[in-house]
Amino acid sequence: MHFTTRFAPSPTGLLHRGHAFSALTAWTAAREARGRFLLRIEDTDFTRCRPEYEIALIEDLTWLGLDWDGPVVRQSERRAAYDAALERLRDMGVLYRCFRTRKELMALAGGAPHGDDPVDARAFTGGPLSADEEAALLAQGKAFAWRLSLAAALGRLGGFDALTWVEETADPGAKTARPETLGDMVVGRKDIGAGYVIASVVDDAAQGVTHVIRGEDLIETTSIQRVLQALLDLPTPAYRHHRLLLGPDGKRYAKRDGSVTLMALREAGVTAEELRAELGF
Ligand code: GLU
Repeated sequence: MHFTTRFAPSPTGLLHRGHAFSALTAWTAAREARGRFLLRIEDTDFTRCRPEYEIALIEDLTWLGLDWDGPVVRQSERRAAYDAALERLRDMGVLYRCFRTRKELMALAGGAPHGDDPVDARAFTGGPLSADEEAALLAQGKAFAWRLSLAAALGRLGGFDALTWVEETADPGAKTARPETLGDMVVGRKDIGAGYVIASVVDDAAQGVTHVIRGEDLIETTSIQRVLQALLDLPTPAYRHHRLLLGPDGKRYAKRDGSVTLMALREAGVTAEELRAELGF
């Protein structure tokens, strides 16, 4: 299949050096392979995304000298496809509603023993409620998240050991999904419907992505996404989880650190050539 990769930022803040490194890594790989480089805006969470950040990131990428093939895809315009996938998963019985807040879960995790057994992952969330408890909370209009039950997924797939993917980076080889490390992950919410984790696997398949090139901070998410691909009968691309760029303090760049945004660099007179050279491109 024709080499196809993508850069898939969420417009929840301004891009920084780490994003530039990631985008340049994917773009260079696509151009070297004479393949396609797609730009996908992952804006499923309308409570956190802002149009001005989307405008800014397109300006930043253009300034960096990147171009992309085909139109920009916005996940906010493809909600129906993700909600259909969410519904399929719900019909399979591998999702449950979790009404607990983050704070409640932290308290719960503090008191519960954690094992490697996927069934134990429910200890982080309390697992599904009884039908009566759930009906009562729904009647109160309480917010909830849809979580992927690893125990149910394990039962349906008969194990996770066959869920492999090809890793093509510094630590190459065949990797096997270990979704237990993240537990029963949130894959949707009452307010936004299907979230990023589902939207991303649905789109990688729909867009014919052959190579997912992204930071190694997402490697655990890949395990969950590998489970979702198996449940939804979607193909598994090859993955290249690249190293994360570290700032002078040895910490990874974060969106909240305004001083290193590409916009700030640009305004300070740094040229795209200088930044590219600094990042090794
Ligand atoms: N939207 C994700 C982020 O901004 C990237 C997901 C991906 O590349 O698969 O962190």
